Amino acid sequence: MAIIGSGLGGTLLALQLLQSQNPTHTPVIYESRPEGYPQGQHISLAPNAMRILSHIPGLIPKLQNLGFEYEKLHFRNSNGGRIATFDNGGVDAYGFPAMRIHRRALLEVLTGVCEEKGVEIWYNMKLEGIQEEGQEGRVKMRFQGGEEAEADFVVGVDGLHSVVREYVAPNSASSYAGMLGVTGYLPREKLHSSVKDIELPSHFVGKTGFMAIMPSSASGDEVGFFSTMEHAETKTREEWDGLFHDKEAIRRILLERFGRRDGWCELVGQMCETAEEESLCSWPFFIAPKLPSWTSPSRRVLVMGDAAHALIPTGGLGASLAFEDAECLSRVFKHVAEQPETLDSVMGAWEAHRKERLALVQQFTNRNREIRAPGMNALLQHLKEWALWVALSFVGSDRIAGEIYGYDTKAFEEVLKDLES
Ligand SMILES: Cc1cc2nc3c(=O)[nH]c(=O)nc-3n(C[C@H](O)[C@H](O)[C@H](O)COP(=O)(O)OP(=O)(O)OC[C@H]3O[C@@H](n4cnc5c(N)ncnc54)[C@H](O)[C@@H]3O)c2cc1C
Repeated sequence: MAIIGSGLGGTLLALQLLQSQNPTHTPVIYESRPEGYPQGQHISLAPNAMRILSHIPGLIPKLQNLGFEYEKLHFRNSNGGRIATFDNGGVDAYGFPAMRIHRRALLEVLTGVCEEKGVEIWYNMKLEGIQEEGQEGRVKMRFQGGEEAEADFVVGVDGLHSVVREYVAPNSASSYAGMLGVTGYLPREKLHSSVKDIELPSHFVGKTGFMAIMPSSASGDEVGFFSTMEHAETKTREEWDGLFHDKEAIRRILLERFGRRDGWCELVGQMCETAEEESLCSWPFFIAPKLPSWTSPSRRVLVMGDAAHALIPTGGLGASLAFEDAECLSRVFKHVAEQPETLDSVMGAWEAHRKERLALVQQFTNRNREIRAPGMNALLQHLKEWALWVALSFVGSDRIAGEIYGYDTKAFEEVLKDLES
């Protein structure tokens, strides 16, 4: 089986396929970029992501040496006062804490385990075209430079600008979501002593924007921040690349939004002013359109992860969704290996199950976008913070996110059992 993309979802899918002891579908990964290619900065793994990672023996201890585990996330107003606390993870509630980790470190662990287990990963293999031959036939792949390969299934885990998606659903380019992310980090020791004791991770919401400040190394000695901002103006790909490399412009964006004159506290100010120049990055957010189907009619070419459903990352759940897609899909392939005639119904059930899940996560993500959006004025911002306090204090984290963080792919096993009965 060919997996296109050695990102978070692609590597996890390969590990899940091996884990399910499926002798029929041996994964081979094709990745467009060179080995060790640069990655974005930090990523949060919600408890539902951790649950799936824990199914691969030995993975969690490796990650625990690299990432910062936490359960509580403090919401604060712009002057640093605590509004309320959200349970972002919890061993008691969900079996797992959440984790903040360098994306590069996470991916190195996943690709490292793939290599230990003998998964072939072919780098510098940019997929350009797909061709299917009949319902039962093999799928042919064409790569940049003219190389070709074939497989019985092709799973596109090739991210936001997926080539496989274009095959499955033509004219389905991703679009700019009107939002920008700005990230950076610094050693905790560089923070002024007056702010070192503020409990982290914390999310700061204020009249002019939103900033999350989160430890990002196992010991907490490195502190990262990210701000997701409404930013209507779109740019060409070259212009976005230009902004990514213009560190002074990124700092200016931060200082304009999080100035002391707008009441932002010392800690937020220090992050904007002191974060190391080379750590400052900007990320325009793109989303995938709603696809009529995630598979080709034969069900032999399909998409998952961001290729199928890239969202704005305001819920911190894109990787979780990709991991869940992968684990459910490994069950599909196990089933199909044993009963090939069920391919259509089982793949259809997978897509329906995952789309239902996606809708729930999308709601959560959109609500978070609203919470983070700048207030229209001081009064409305105050009301928004009051509503946040009411929601977290009286509705509670469990009712807000329990279904999201508590998800277990066993739910899909039940769907498969129902199909059989
Ligand atoms: C700024 C930012 C912050 C985020 N923060 C979080 C967070 O905190 N928590 C969270 O859960 N999610 C977060 N996300 C979302 C998360 O990063 C994605 O949902 C996740 O990486 C999706 O995994 P994937 O494997 O589907 O795609 P990707 O990780 O994008 O991997 C796709 C892979 O396919 C390769 N590829 C692309 N085209 C081709 C081709 N033609 N041929 C071969 N290979 C190809 C790419 O090089 C890449 O390696 C964030 C996203 C952004 C942009």
